[in-house]
Amino acid sequence: MANYTQESFTRKLDNQPLFKEAVTEFLESIFPFLEQYGPDEEVYMRLERLLEPERTITFKVVWENDEGILQVNRGYRVQFNSALGPYKGGLRFDPSVTEDVLKFLGFEQIFKNSLTGLPLGGGKGGSDFDPKGKTDNEIRRFCVAFMTELSRYIGANTDVPAGDIGVGAREIGYLYGAYKRLQNRVDGTLTGKGTGYGGSFIRTEATGYGAVYFIKEMLAHVGKNIEGMRAVISGSGNVATHVAEKLIAEGALPLTLSDRDGYIYAEEGLLQEIVDAVKVLKEKKGSLKDLPLPHGCVYCLGTPWKAIKAQLFIPSATQNEIDEDNAQAIVANGAVLVAEGANMPSTLDAVKVFKESGILFGPAKAVNAGGVAVSGLEMNQNASHTQWTTDEVDAELRMIMKRIHDTCVRYGSVGSRVDYVNGANIGGFVRVFEAMKQLGW
Ligand code: NDP
Repeated sequence: MANYTQESFTRKLDNQPLFKEAVTEFLESIFPFLEQYGPDEEVYMRLERLLEPERTITFKVVWENDEGILQVNRGYRVQFNSALGPYKGGLRFDPSVTEDVLKFLGFEQIFKNSLTGLPLGGGKGGSDFDPKGKTDNEIRRFCVAFMTELSRYIGANTDVPAGDIGVGAREIGYLYGAYKRLQNRVDGTLTGKGTGYGGSFIRTEATGYGAVYFIKEMLAHVGKNIEGMRAVISGSGNVATHVAEKLIAEGALPLTLSDRDGYIYAEEGLLQEIVDAVKVLKEKKGSLKDLPLPHGCVYCLGTPWKAIKAQLFIPSATQNEIDEDNAQAIVANGAVLVAEGANMPSTLDAVKVFKESGILFGPAKAVNAGGVAVSGLEMNQNASHTQWTTDEVDAELRMIMKRIHDTCVRYGSVGSRVDYVNGANIGGFVRVFEAMKQLGW
C-alpha cells in the first residue's frame, strides 16, 4: 500500500492556507478513525478524492455603477461534493473572497450538511465585490449581473445557494428575482428567501438560534444550565444578533457584539432593544461606533477576547478571529464553553489551547449547522408547495440540533468527556464516505 500520511494529503495545499487549515483539522480526526479499516488502500484513495471539489466555476461579473461606469468583479461557485444531495451552501460578498476562502468553506459545508441528516451536498460561492458604500441600485445591478452567470450552473436539484457574509435578505431577494426571470422557473433555487415569496419561517434566525440550542445541549450533557451565564459574542450580523437574541430569551446575558472596528459592551447584559437597533444599523451597513448607546453600554475599539470575563465565548464574525494568544486569554477569563458561530473562527493553535484546557469546545460544523438545516427545510417546503408555521420549523430545528449533538457524543466520546471536534468531523464524514462508496465514486 502507498504510504498515506496526513502530510501527504496536505503537502500540495501550501498555496491555499485556509483550505489547508480546514483539511488539517479534519484529517487529525479522520486518520485515527480510519485505522479501524487497516491498510485498505481504497479507503485512503477515496479520502483523497473527497478532498478535491467536483467542480469550481469562476466567472466575470460586469455591472454598472451609479455613474454609468462598468465595473468588474470575480464570481465563484465551488461545487464540492454531491454524494448526499444537491450542492448546498451560501454566497459570500466580501473583498477578502478568493478561491481558497471558498474551498475551505465548501469543504466544511460537506460535513456540516451531512450532520443535519438531510439530503444535502456541500458547496460555497461568492464574489470579491464589496457591498459596503454601494447604493441599493448598485447592489441590485451587481446581484443581477452575478446571477446572469451563476444561473447556468444552479437549480433546485443541482445546486441551491443561500446567504453568508454580505448576502442577507435584500441580496437574496435580488438574486432570486434575477434567477426567476432568467430561467422562467419558480422552483425555490436559493434559500433564505423572504417568507412572502417562498422562504421559510425561522430561516433568518436559524443559525444563531440553532447555535444556542446546541450550546444548551453541550451544557446539559455536563449537568450545567445556561440561565444566568455571561456571554461574549463577536460579530453583529445575522449569526451574532440571533445568538444574542436567543441567549436573552434563555435567561443568559450577552455582553458584547462587535464589528470590524470595535465592539459594544454592557456589563449587565445587552437588552433586546439594543440587539434590534444593531440589526437595523447593520441592514444599512452602518458601524457600531455610530450607534447611540443607553446608560450602562459602552463602545470600545478592538476585540473583546482579552478584555472581558465570561462563561460563554461565541465567535460569530469570520474565520481566524481567535489566535493562540486570544484563546489563552479566553481560558484565563473564565470560559466554561467556546462555541463557534462563525466558520473556522479559531486558528488550529487556538483550538489546541481550548482542547488542552479542558473547557467545552463546540466546532462550527456542529454549532452553526442550524442555518443550513432550515435551508434544507425550506427546500422541502418549496418542493411540496407548502409553508410550515414558525412553531413547526422551530421544533424541527431543535430536534436537528439535538440529533447533531447526539452524533457528536456517539463519535467523540472519550470516557465521560466529549471531543466535539472529533465527534463532528467523524459523524459528518461517515455518511458522505459511505455514500461515495455506494455510488462507485
Ligand atoms: P453578516 O454579513 O451578517 O455579518 C458578519 C459580521 O462579521 C459583521 O458584524 C462584520 O462586521 C463581521 N466581520 C466580517 N468580517 C470581519 C473581519 N474580517 N473582522 C472583524 N469582523 C468581521 O454575516 P453572517 O452573520 O451571516 O456570518 C458570520 C459568520 O457565520 C461567517 O463565518 C459565516 O460563514 C458563518 N455562517 C453564517 C450562516 C448564516 O446563516 N448566515 C450559516 C453558517 C455559518 P461589519 O459589520 O463591520 O462588516
